[in-house]
Amino acid sequence: MLTDSFCRKINYVRLAVTDRCNLRCFYCMPEEGLQWLERTELLTYEEMLRLSSILIGQGIEKMRITGGEPFVRKGMMGFLASLSELSGLRQISITTNGVLTAPLVPELKKLGIHSVNLSLDTLDRNRFFAITHRDEFVNVTNTLGQLIKHGISVKINAVVMDGKNTQDILPLAELTKDMPVDVRFIEEMPFNGRTDDYKGLSWDHLRILETLQQKYPHIQKVPDPANSTAYNYHVPGHKGNLGIIAAYTRSFCGTCNRIRITPQGMLKTCLYGNGALDVRALLRNGASDAALVQAFTDAIQKKPKDGWEAEANRNSGPSSIHESMAMIGG
Ligand code: SAM
Ligand code: SF4
Repeated sequence: MLTDSFCRKINYVRLAVTDRCNLRCFYCMPEEGLQWLERTELLTYEEMLRLSSILIGQGIEKMRITGGEPFVRKGMMGFLASLSELSGLRQISITTNGVLTAPLVPELKKLGIHSVNLSLDTLDRNRFFAITHRDEFVNVTNTLGQLIKHGISVKINAVVMDGKNTQDILPLAELTKDMPVDVRFIEEMPFNGRTDDYKGLSWDHLRILETLQQKYPHIQKVPDPANSTAYNYHVPGHKGNLGIIAAYTRSFCGTCNRIRITPQGMLKTCLYGNGALDVRALLRNGASDAALVQAFTDAIQKKPKDGWEAEANRNSGPSSIHESMAMIGG
């Protein structure tokens, strides 16, 4: 079992399989895109499978496949099939923007994909375009329909952005009335791939909650699952739950059970920190399984207490978070 110096057990890996994306969500990357990684810089599927199997041997039970947009990487379904054959893994989940996902849903169901987080920040096609710079709203909503039809558990993730989509909070929340989906509102973080224009957080979790409480005076707090990053709520009579993720306020770090592997194979022990271990270099320099386990064990031991400590310890200084979330995986 991988454990850090605060006795937190690490059993969850978020694996970002690519930095590339077919949307340009303004909170994640500039409209012109990023300086994409060369193909050789990405971990290969073979490397990811070896890594996954080593980590599962150390107690990892849950993996989330993310990116960039996972489904823009060629061979993704084959990778998921191989991953689903690894024994010891209890859950494979995916975070996707839903642009290419609808036709793949029956196959995802067959592979036993446990749940899908679908990013959808608005129910208005024009605002969708304004946020993502692509006219893909219809494909994303088709994906939502397919996921529900095939009985895959869905959580909609909506980043709440001042001046962009706060009018969507209630329409998105209303989806939980008739659909078996959870809708989670996420505080905007500074990972937008630009150096200058994170304006600070004006819609924190409390303000989002107040907005929900005004519309739903009978909204109830429900128990948060272990290691949940969301505060969870239920409106009586609704099919799905509501969640608020204090991603910027960072109030959930005390129970953090996760690590991240970036598309170029960097281990991140905290979203807000620098890379903790160059796994790709180890893999490509012929490290044995035992050496990899030792390197992971040592790096995880040093996992920072919380996102504030991680941010303060960044080599480049606390005010310089301007990576794109597509380089980290969310
Ligand atoms: N492309 C996929 C998608 O959008 O679902 C997966 C990768 S995306 C980086 C993972 C999650 O990070 C998405 O739910 C997205 O909304 C969230 N995200 C990206 N940038 C963010 C930011 N600056 N603040 C908060 N959440 C962000
Ligand atoms: Fe692409 Fe996801 Fe980033 Fe949007 S949030 S640009 S869909 S990686």
